[in-house]
Amino acid sequence: MRIETDIKLDYQDVLLKPKRSKLSSRKEVLMEREFKFPHSGLKFNTLPIMASNMDGVGTFAMAKVLQKRKMLTVIRKHYSIDDWKKAFKNDLDHQYISVCTGINQMWEEDAIDFNTLKKVLDEFPEIPFITIDVANGYHQNFVDFIKQVRDSFPYKTIIAGNVITAEMTEELILNGVDIVKCGIGPGSVCTTRLMTGVGIPQLSGMIECADAAHGVGGLVIADGGCVYPGDVAKAFGAGSDFVMLGGMLAGHDESEGTVKDGQIEFYGMSSDTAMSIHGSEKAGYRSSEGKLVTLQHRGSVEDTLVEIIGGVRSACTYIGAKRIKDMPKCSTFVRVNQQVNTVFDN
Ligand code: 5GP
Repeated sequence: MRIETDIKLDYQDVLLKPKRSKLSSRKEVLMEREFKFPHSGLKFNTLPIMASNMDGVGTFAMAKVLQKRKMLTVIRKHYSIDDWKKAFKNDLDHQYISVCTGINQMWEEDAIDFNTLKKVLDEFPEIPFITIDVANGYHQNFVDFIKQVRDSFPYKTIIAGNVITAEMTEELILNGVDIVKCGIGPGSVCTTRLMTGVGIPQLSGMIECADAAHGVGGLVIADGGCVYPGDVAKAFGAGSDFVMLGGMLAGHDESEGTVKDGQIEFYGMSSDTAMSIHGSEKAGYRSSEGKLVTLQHRGSVEDTLVEIIGGVRSACTYIGAKRIKDMPKCSTFVRVNQQVNTVFDN
């Protein structure tokens, strides 16, 4: 047994220090970034905030709004191939879409589930991104699966996770991942930290993973734990190349959920609710690591996007970052005595 005694921080434990800046308006901030992915070689211009592959978030309706701002959506796993066909007939843009898979079904020749990664990519080979999503990315069979996907799709950009330490971030990139999805337990409807005691505070975790990824030519996504636009700014300041959002994008018209009395349900993908909706069996040895919450329905996601992007833009002007790309080098974090969210909520 060993104890690491250095302090690890979450978004609410810090603030960004304001600095002198030559920017005179928020409009001057360049919110888009041009990436060249290390394995696929794809050049991609994007506003690097993306929608998570969750029910209520990674929907086709969400993607159609996000693509207008060059933002990526990781489409949730449970659409049928007919749903995909319909969506592409209705103005969905391939460029800003990632198909998503776990690591179980894809290579089964006789998989009865039509919505497998391979089948979607056979039908729509223009989709540039593949996301391989598991709750715990520390298994050897996860790495083996990634290698298989990389061999089969050398020109696709592979996003994979989740992990939250340097050595596993490097391991994934060295085995074919372009962008590592980072975060164990910070999610708004996640109960992993409570159920297992496992996790790393997200801000410190991102600083470690970004440093590791950039050292071997890869990129990282900060996945989970953003509650306010300021958290998104802090995630970029910590070195994250992308920020993935679940809860902040949930509860809108684009969530494709049922609105009842002005409320809409949102649940973790490992929750009992998700398992019963998608008919996945909960084995006797497994506990649920997600929860169900009820959110106030918030109308179209457009207004929320304006708030989020406006917040990050404004953060850039406070710290003197002309481009979102410059945020890490312009960021000095100060620790706060009281959790920032507590201050906001009062
Ligand atoms: P949020 O932006 O809501 O804070 O976090 C979104 C992220 O939480 C997702 O992208 C995913 O990585 C994670 N997540 C979603 N559902 C669950 C769940 O049921 N359990 C856990 N442990 N994490 C989840």
